[in-house]
Amino acid sequence: MLAVAGIFDMHGHISLRDGDSVFVNGHGASRIAVRPDEIAVVRVSDGATDRGTPPSELPIHRELYRARPDVGSIVHYHALYATALSVAEKPLVAAFNAGASFGREVPVLDDPRLIRDEARGRALAAVVGAGNAAVMRGHGAVVVARDIVTCLALALQLEENAHRLWLSYAIGEPRRFSDAEIASVAENLGEPRVVRKIWTDALERARRAGALEDIDVALLA
Ligand SMILES: [Zn+2]
Repeated sequence: MLAVAGIFDMHGHISLRDGDSVFVNGHGASRIAVRPDEIAVVRVSDGATDRGTPPSELPIHRELYRARPDVGSIVHYHALYATALSVAEKPLVAAFNAGASFGREVPVLDDPRLIRDEARGRALAAVVGAGNAAVMRGHGAVVVARDIVTCLALALQLEENAHRLWLSYAIGEPRRFSDAEIASVAENLGEPRVVRKIWTDALERARRAGALEDIDVALLA
């Protein structure tokens, strides 16, 4: 679904947590055709791999889960527009509805290196803090949420907001939402029925693109 939506290129991974286990798409699997047997299972507590081969940037997931007991799903992707803005040092501000869920401005990890060890994972978790996203300068973005449905919706919104901001920055300085506007729009977009609608739409687009032919779509609905 994320590949069809243009969020995943050949890179990117989404995980969900169940107790001490993290389920994440495997290192070598094509992002547009991940089979169930290509999903890796890793333990949060000691980092041990119970099944498969996790992505090389697994510390993103493990360190964020360790830092945030409230988080049940994490997605990392090499976001085209969000990273383009990050290297131009244009902040991802809330100036469109799609940006309201992230507060006034998405924080930036000022380090383009891949997150392949605990120290870098912890540094990223510190930038995310109590929020739900961070941009990694010249590299990508990370989004965290309580569940995978919300995580997908936020991933789409982060990149949509960046795309729209790119257009605005080409013209002038975006007019930022007030705190009251951010709160109101974020509340509306966070309604379970709205989040579910975004998931359903992404699912149907992926199905029509033929990306879910070997998966029981009823399980995802
Ligand atoms: Zn990456």
